[in-house]
Amino acid sequence: MTTQIKKEIDLGLEGNSLDYMDPSELHEKVERVRIVSQLEWINERSQFYQNHIGKKELTAASKAGSVSELPFTTKMDLLTDQKNYPPFGSNVCVELNEINRVHKTSGTTSKPLTILLTKRDIKDAVNSGGRAFQAAGLKPDDIVVHCLNYCMWSGGLTDHQCLEATGASVVPYGVGNSNALIEMIISLGVTAIHCTPSYLTKLWDIVTVEFGLNPKDLPLKLGLFGAEPGLQYPGKRARIEQDWGIKAMNANYGLSEVLSIMGSECEARDGFHLMVGGSLFVELYDFSSDKNVPLESGAIGELVLTNIFKETQPLIRYRTGDTIEVVGTNPCICGRRGLRINVQGRSDDMIVVGGVNVFPSAIEEILSEFLGQLNGEFQIILKTPPPHDSLFLKAEHRLDLNKALLKQLKLNLEKVFRNKLGFRPIIELLNEGSLPRVKGKTQRVKKIY
Ligand SMILES: [Zn+2]
Repeated sequence: MTTQIKKEIDLGLEGNSLDYMDPSELHEKVERVRIVSQLEWINERSQFYQNHIGKKELTAASKAGSVSELPFTTKMDLLTDQKNYPPFGSNVCVELNEINRVHKTSGTTSKPLTILLTKRDIKDAVNSGGRAFQAAGLKPDDIVVHCLNYCMWSGGLTDHQCLEATGASVVPYGVGNSNALIEMIISLGVTAIHCTPSYLTKLWDIVTVEFGLNPKDLPLKLGLFGAEPGLQYPGKRARIEQDWGIKAMNANYGLSEVLSIMGSECEARDGFHLMVGGSLFVELYDFSSDKNVPLESGAIGELVLTNIFKETQPLIRYRTGDTIEVVGTNPCICGRRGLRINVQGRSDDMIVVGGVNVFPSAIEEILSEFLGQLNGEFQIILKTPPPHDSLFLKAEHRLDLNKALLKQLKLNLEKVFRNKLGFRPIIELLNEGSLPRVKGKTQRVKKIY
C-alpha cells in the first residue's frame, strides 16, 4: 500500500446544504425562483422552445412560477431539432464563444445527441456529481480509478471532475487495457473504482484466471457503480461485496442531456438520493393515464425533469424514459431530505410478454437471487416482433456445476419466474464467459428478427 496523504482541503461543493433542506422550503426559496428566471431565459433565447411551446405560453408559465401546464419534451424532439439545425440544434441559448464543452450522449437506445455546456453548466454538474460521490463514501484520502469511456461521453471527463470534487485522487483510466489496470491498482494502492457492474465481471475473469489472485487481496475498498441498473438488488450487491471484499455503492445515475450525475446512495442504502436541488425540478408522470403522480412513498411513474439553472440547452418537462419508484420522502438517517428512488428501467426497454410488462431489470432481480450458481450475466433474445408469448433467456452459470445441478437450477429458475412475473421463459444456461462482454454497457436485450 502506498502512503495515503491526508489532504486538508475545502471541498467547496456548492449546493451541498440544499440536500439537507426541507423540500417545501427548498421549493419556495430556491426552485420557484429559479423556475421563473429559467423560463424567462428560455423565452428570450431559445428558438427551439419558442417553436415547441410558444412565447405566450412561456410568459404565462414564468408568471405562474410553474411548468406543470407546459407540454413535454422528448429525446426525439431534440434529435429532430439537431438534425434540422446542425450541428447543435436551436436550443443553444448562449453565444458560441460562451460554450465551454461539447459531449455526446452514449447513444445506447437512439442516435447520439450533442450536448453543450457553458462554464457555469460544468460547475453545476460537478457540484451535483461531487455531492453524490461524497455521499457514496469517497473521501479525500482515497485513490479512485475512473474506468468509464472518456471518448466524448460525459461519463468520462465530467464524471472525472465530479470524483475530483470530493478531494480524492483520481486516476484517469477509461476503458480497455484491463491487465495493466489490475497491475496499476496493485502498485498504486488504489482504494476505489468507478465503473459499470458488468465491467467488474470482466475484471473478475482477469484477476482470477490471468493473475491467479483472489480479488479480495486487491487494495480496493469501495466500488462506485453506475450507468447500468442492477445494484439495487440485494443479491447482486451481496455477491460483489463478497467476491471483491469491497463496499459496493450505487453511485451514478444521470442523463447527460439533463445533468450528468443526479445523486447516489448514502451510507443508509435506503434508495437512491436525488441530489438535484437547485438544478432540476422533478416530476413523476403516468403516461398511460395521462396524470401527474404525487411524489410520495411507493409512487411509480416516468421521471420528468426540468432544468432550472442551465445556461445552454435547458430542457422543460423532459421525458427521461426511466420508470422510477419513490422509496421514501421522509428525512434519511444521513440527514438528507428530498426524494429517494429506485430506477426500475428504461421505458423503451420494456417488453410485454403474454400481457405482462417486463423490464430487463426485473429479470436481473430474479437472477440475482441465484448468484451462488449464476454469475449475473444474461441476455434476453427476442426472436420475433411483439407481441411476445414467451421470452428466450440466456444466462451464464458458474463453472463448478454438474449436469444434475444445472437441470435443477433451470427448474428452480422457471418456478421463480412463473411465481414472480407470471410466465415461464425458455432458459438456456451457458458456461461462464460465453456471452459477449462489452467495455461500456452490456446489451441485455438482443433482437434477432
Ligand atoms: Zn441518506
